[in-house]
Order: sequence, then structure tokens, then C-alpha cells
Amino acid sequence: MISKRAESFTSFIVMDVMAKAEELERKGEHVIHLEVGEPDFSTPKVIMRAATSALSNNKTRYTHALGLLELRQAICDFYFKEYGVNITSDQVLVSTGTSPALLFAMLAILDHGDEVIISNPRYPCYQNFILAAGGKIKEVKTYPEEGFQYRPQDIKKKLSPRTKAILINSPSNPTGIVMSKDQLQSMTQFDKQYIISDEIYHGLVYQGRAHSILEFTDKAFVINGFSKLYAMTGWRLGYCIFPKEFTQVMQRIHQNFMISANGFIQWAGIAALTKAQKDVTKMIRIYDERRKYMLARLKDMGFVIHVEPTGAFYVFADARCFCTDSYKEAFRIIEEVKVGVTPGIDFGSAGEGFLRFSYANSLENIKEGLNRLEIYLSKDY
Ligand code: PMP
Repeated sequence: MISKRAESFTSFIVMDVMAKAEELERKGEHVIHLEVGEPDFSTPKVIMRAATSALSNNKTRYTHALGLLELRQAICDFYFKEYGVNITSDQVLVSTGTSPALLFAMLAILDHGDEVIISNPRYPCYQNFILAAGGKIKEVKTYPEEGFQYRPQDIKKKLSPRTKAILINSPSNPTGIVMSKDQLQSMTQFDKQYIISDEIYHGLVYQGRAHSILEFTDKAFVINGFSKLYAMTGWRLGYCIFPKEFTQVMQRIHQNFMISANGFIQWAGIAALTKAQKDVTKMIRIYDERRKYMLARLKDMGFVIHVEPTGAFYVFADARCFCTDSYKEAFRIIEEVKVGVTPGIDFGSAGEGFLRFSYANSLENIKEGLNRLEIYLSKDY
């Protein structure tokens, strides 16, 4: 019998859209993918070369459970250079993506029945990491006009003696919105809870810069990785930075459940952090060009953009003037004009009536996709 816990895991609705796209593609249709949250760029060559060189040098064994010391040190140096924060290599766990790193952070802090605050809307997998670790989610509704940021007074209303952590994500998936310094600072008033800060979209910021939660508090778990900024989704490499008292427990958790992250890929991670800046700068320039184009076209078509997204590669567009059921709408769009978009409901009930558009696709494809969407909107269905 399937466990109640496994039954409680929600599915990723965007996968349904992708399955539909695949079905259409098998029939020979040309689908434009604006639903996927994955860079369309190849991994920079300098990173590829580091991986092949590590392979030819037999870097094919287990590493330290927390990760290669050289990579952990490079992560510490990176956080010092970017944010001026001092962390040490015993505060870093390298894992096979940010996803397992987040699960292990939850396992480290949650006892059965402990609560974690998450926003509504948010990245759809968060609740499942919490449930997997025996925790409970406490949702806090956020509002489009406020860039879907937490209202601290609403967090306070949800706190209980069992609340262990508050999860934040900036730049955010699905909104692309970057938290300001003040918004991050205001999170530190919750000093009895850990702040879990998903910083995976850091670096992909097109105006100003993103701040790390570690600039404001040490009582935090940072989740970050290589998938997005370095176009390395398939490599599976990410990390967690945690308070010092968790070193041994994180090491024990990782020893048991993963042994270690992939050896040669960790060497490639060092190259990403230290040698790929030129490639990253180029990708950022291209993303920004697409972002501006997409925003202008969506606004022209009547979508409402309450707060301009300046990070990640998403636009979370308010489609409530013509759409009440975002799931049905996304399917109608892909069936009628063969454009994949992600329904807002995927990110929680407060995302209903919104559609998430990803600009991790070429400008040419984005143009074609938006042209098709314009035709779709001009018809009465
Ligand atoms: N957090 C957010 C907000 C994401 O969008 C993603 C990927 N879609 C992840 C975490 C997981 O990334 P990965 O496991 O590839 O590092």
C-alpha cells in the first residue's frame, strides 16, 4: 500500500503541460515552450572542460560527505565576494542539486508536526520537502500589488510554538521579483525561527542586485546551486549553507542518504564559480533583452504586470481579465496555438488567474510564441 505521506505529495502541474506539448510534438506540431524553468543555453565551455579534465584525472570517487573542500572553500569565497559575509567550509553542504539540499535542511530542523511558513504563491515543490520531513506547511497569502511579498504582520498571525522556519525565495519563482534590502531585513524580526532562503536565482538580476539573507542574520539556511546561473540543470549540483551547530548533523544526513555529490561534477562547480563570469555576463544580457521584450508584448496584449520582475527568467502575468481557471486556460492555449505556459494555480491558490511565462527561450521563439498568443486572444473561444 502506498503511504499516506507519499499520497500527500502534490504533483507539478507544469509537467502536465509539458506532457501535452510532447504529445503534440509527436504528432508533428511545432510547440513553443514558454512553460519551462530551465536555461536554454549550453553550459559554458570552461565548465565542461573542467569536468572532462576531472574525469581524465580519475576524479571518479566519493568525496567528503559535505563536499570537496576546494569547492566548499570556493563557495565561501563566492559568498564573501558577492555579499561580504564570512562563512566557513564546515557550514557548507554540497549535494546533487538544490532540491536534495533543501530536503536535508528540512530533515535537519524539523520534528514530526513542526511547521514551516511558506508564501502563497510559491515554488510548488516546497510543500513536499516539508511534508517529506514530517513537517506541516503554514501558508501566508501574498498580494500581486505588493509583488507577492510577505506582510510580516500576516506571518505573525501564523506563528505557533511549533513554527521552526520561514521560507523565502528571491528572485522568486514564479514571480521573478527580487526582495529589497528592507524586506529581507524585516525577516530578521522572526528571531525564534530559521529563515530558509532559496537563493538559486541569485546572479540572474537585471536591475540592482540581490542581497543574501546572510547579510542580515546568521540564523539562516541558504539554498543555492548551479542549475540556473550557470545553465547546469542536468549536472545536478547545489548546496546549502547552514549555522555552524549543524555541521555534524548535515554531514551525518548526507553520509547516509547520498554518501556524497558527484566527484568530477564538483570540480566543474569550482570552474563555474571562478572562471565562468564572462559567460554569465553574456547570458544575463540576453535574458534581460528577452525580459524587456516579453514584458512590453504582454502588457500590450492586456496582461497586467503589477510589479516589474527584475530577476530569474519569469514573468507572472495577471490574466484575470480573461481567465478564471488558469489550468484550463493553459491547456486551451497549448491546444489552440501550441504555446506552453504554466498555470498560476501550480504555485498555490493565490496564483489563480495568473500565467507564468518563462523567457528561458530564444528571442525568436519568444516572438513567435507571443504572436501566437496574440492571435489566441483576438479570437472568441
Ligand atoms: N528552487 C527553485 C525556486 C527552483 O525554481 C528550482 C528549479 N526549478 C529549484 C529550487 C531546484 O533546482 P535544482 O534542484 O536544479 O538545483
